[in-house]
Amino acid sequence: MDTSGEQNEIKKKRYGILGGTFDPIHNGHLFIAQTAMEELQLDKIMFIPNRVSPHKTTEKVTEAYQRLIMAEIAVIDHDKFCVSSMEINRKGPSYTIDTIQELVKENPNTDFYFITGTDVFMELDTWKNHELLLKLIKFVVVTRSGFSYIDLDQKIKYLKEKYDGDIVKIKIPSLEISSTDIRNRVEMGRFIKYLVPDGVKNYIIKHKLYSD
Ligand code: ATP
Ligand code: MG
Repeated sequence: MDTSGEQNEIKKKRYGILGGTFDPIHNGHLFIAQTAMEELQLDKIMFIPNRVSPHKTTEKVTEAYQRLIMAEIAVIDHDKFCVSSMEINRKGPSYTIDTIQELVKENPNTDFYFITGTDVFMELDTWKNHELLLKLIKFVVVTRSGFSYIDLDQKIKYLKEKYDGDIVKIKIPSLEISSTDIRNRVEMGRFIKYLVPDGVKNYIIKHKLYSD
C-alpha cells in the first residue's frame, strides 16, 4: 500500500488555548474564545486557569479550585470548550512555556493557538522563554478596549521581525468586561447577570466570593 502522498497525511488538529487567572471567568473570555474558534477554524478551546500568575504574585486571588470550578461551569454547555487543571496541579508560578512544552510533547499532531487580549500580549516579551514560545506555537491577539491599535500593530511587527513569530490579530467589538469589574460589582452589591454565565453568578453568590 502506498503510504506516501497527501491523502494519507494525518490532518493536524488545531487547538486554541486561553490562559488566565479567571477570577472569575466571564462572558468576555467566552466571547473571545468563540470568536477565535470561528475565525481560525479551531477544533477546540482549552481554558487553562493558572495557579499563580507570574505577573500577579502579590495580588490576592480566589482559591485555585474555585476558579477552576467556575471555569468548568462556564463551559458546561459548549461541546468544543474544555478546561484543563494542568497549571493548577503544577507547583510554583504558572509559566506558559512549561504548559506549552507539556502540551506539545503530549500532542505531536496538533497546532496550538495561544489566545490573549491586547493587555497580556503587550507584555509578551517579558515572559519566560518567550523566544522559544514564539517558535512552538502561534499567537492570536484580540483587541481590548483601552489599548491602542497602533501600539499593538507595532508590537506584532516587532515580534514577527525579531523572533519570526506567527501572530494573528483579531479585531473584536470592544467589550468592557473584566474580572476586576465583576469583583468590584459584587463587592458593591451591583448586578453581574449578563456579564458572567448564570451558573458562575450562582456559584459566586452561593460561596460568597468577592463580597467579604
Ligand atoms: P483581571 O481584571 O482580574 O485582570 P481579566 O478580565 O483581565 O481579569 P484574565 O483572567 O486576566 O481576565 O484574562 C485572561 C485573558 O483574557 C487575557 O489574555 C485577557 O487579555 C483576556 N481578556 C479578558 N477580558 C477580555 C476582554 N473583555 N476583551 C479582550 N480580551 C479579554
Ligand atoms: Mg487581566
